[in-house]
Amino acid sequence: MSDRYDALKAFRQELHRHPELSGREYRTMEKIMEKVMAYGPDRVVKLGETGIAFVFLGKEEGPTIMFRAELDALPIAEESMLPYRSVEEGKGHLCGHDGHMTILVGLAERIASQKAQKGRVILLFQPAEETGQGAVEVLHSPAFDELRADYIFALHNVPDFPLGQVILRKGHFSAASRGLTVKLKGKTAHAAHPEQALSPVNAIARIINELERINQNNTSFETLSFATVIHVQAGEIAFGTTPGYGEIRLTLRSFSDRDMDFLVRAIEGLLQQVAMEEKLLLDFTYSEIFPTIQNDDAAVELIEEVAIENKMATRYQKEPFRWSEDFGYFSQIMPAGFFGLGAGHGYPALHHPDYDFPDEILLPAIDLFYSIYQKLLN
Ligand SMILES: [Zn+2]
Ligand SMILES: [Zn+2]
Repeated sequence: MSDRYDALKAFRQELHRHPELSGREYRTMEKIMEKVMAYGPDRVVKLGETGIAFVFLGKEEGPTIMFRAELDALPIAEESMLPYRSVEEGKGHLCGHDGHMTILVGLAERIASQKAQKGRVILLFQPAEETGQGAVEVLHSPAFDELRADYIFALHNVPDFPLGQVILRKGHFSAASRGLTVKLKGKTAHAAHPEQALSPVNAIARIINELERINQNNTSFETLSFATVIHVQAGEIAFGTTPGYGEIRLTLRSFSDRDMDFLVRAIEGLLQQVAMEEKLLLDFTYSEIFPTIQNDDAAVELIEEVAIENKMATRYQKEPFRWSEDFGYFSQIMPAGFFGLGAGHGYPALHHPDYDFPDEILLPAIDLFYSIYQKLLN
């Protein structure tokens, strides 16, 4: 293998060894900065705390295209015997963002070696993808205004698809999702007199049962839409006390933003009705809100075209992926092309403790991005 591949692999594995959590990617950002600055970008733009964009100008005026990678790792302990496994306790690059960053670093090297004829290319390294906050922070950063692009592209590696296969879909690529925390407040009583308490337990049971009815109400939804109970808690571990407080946490998921709105309204209606009937105070909040990724048809066709030119296998997905990506926020304001790149069969799934980005797809991914860049700016 080439020296170039060895250098990229070493860089990827160095990132892998030192994962940083969402919003705290300071050292990761510095490493990226050090690497890309060596390729002489025309401008460097800081976006929020840890986000950073590098701008490479062409010889004349022209369109702007952007490529995006994510900086963050996960609060999951890595369980592997790799020589470059995480040395940061309880943290791991288990979604392959170390690989995605390395792809953009490799792309910077290629772009620097041959200046584009026209326009400008922006390499965006975005923080906090896993919590859904990074894209929002970048987009709200005042410095982002002048970086708006005519097209934005990104990829995600996808385990259990053939290694290096380009996975495409027009329209929705991945699901919308959001977390919902429900708090129900009543009144405790002695366990000998449960009739004197306002316990949230019955309300919690009713809500969980009714959620199934909403989930199965297929006629109301145009696409797959459902809520999953991920956490339930009520009262204290005290055998003499009837609980006076409880919480339920749900994840809502849908293949369309319209259906997500419908799901949200249906669940909020249910919560209000049950809380009223059970005489409980209701409070609820949302977190980790991800919209769907909405792909632009022309962008997807371009990815397919260059993939074929680069002799990469391609496939179209019938259904969107069930996971969510905060790239959805970018796709709401710029024509976007997001695709999957197969990580190989029999490979641990994303977020599993023994997952590791497959280095074999670094060079094909760089070639593919570079071909998009050449098509649009030369
Ligand atoms: Zn992830
Ligand atoms: Zn990811």
